[in-house]
Amino acid sequence: MIEVSDLQKSFGNLDVLKKVSFNIQAGEAVAVIGPSGSGKSTMLRSLVHLEEITGGSIFIQEKPLVENGKYASGASIREITASMGMVFQHFNLFPHLTVRGNLELAPRMLKRESVKEIMARSENLLSKVGLAEKADVYPAKLSGGQKQRVAIARALMLNPDILLFDEPTSALDPELTGEVLRVIRQLAEENMTMIVVTHEMNFARDVADRVIFMDKGEITESGTPEQIFDHPQQERTRMFLSQES
Ligand code: ATP
Ligand code: MG
Repeated sequence: MIEVSDLQKSFGNLDVLKKVSFNIQAGEAVAVIGPSGSGKSTMLRSLVHLEEITGGSIFIQEKPLVENGKYASGASIREITASMGMVFQHFNLFPHLTVRGNLELAPRMLKRESVKEIMARSENLLSKVGLAEKADVYPAKLSGGQKQRVAIARALMLNPDILLFDEPTSALDPELTGEVLRVIRQLAEENMTMIVVTHEMNFARDVADRVIFMDKGEITESGTPEQIFDHPQQERTRMFLSQES
């Protein structure tokens, strides 16, 4: 579903990603963990072309987004990235639109289906994330956990094949993380293909099929949650986990 090989990214002379390679299968939920500055966000952003990589290849559903450092055409890039949804730490909701407006904006602009279908789906998705009664409220009136659930519902509006989460609960008070993690867990149970960058080690252990540990721009260890959390092979992984818990 996602094939990344020898992904390199530098900002000036800072090498942020150094030949990162990994594959994600359809239906897999993969957690990415690792210290601050290790390149987790840059890796995720590269997949949706929010960052231009400096070398390597990214294939999404067998289609080359970039191959040996050479990007596909603009139209292909748009088509490929449209199959992915991304949820950010800081929600990035449109403040001047209601919850419903936030969900419906992109699909209404794309005009791929009738307004009626779009409205039905936004209603469904808001129920799914437990916010049906907030459809006509503006984001400023929502808690952080509610805002993030709206952001997830909004990402789902375009029927993505892949969902990417960049520390979806890091900006939330601890008592609000559970409601967001529950929604992500449900998506995992529905076999949504996803990559979740997270500092929530318990969540990674419970929900992920596989865990990738990044350090200084490299994947230094990956495996099942049991392998990574109970039997880490690398000293660096052990140190990181002992600081996190
Ligand atoms: P965190 O856990 O703090 O979110 P991260 O693993 O997501 O960290 P990145 O945000 O990917 O790390 O950053 C990796 C490195 O790249 C850091 O050293 C960061 O300072 C640098 N970096 C990221 N974006 C840019 C940019 N636009 N310009 C220059 N350097 C950048
Ligand atoms: Mg980050």
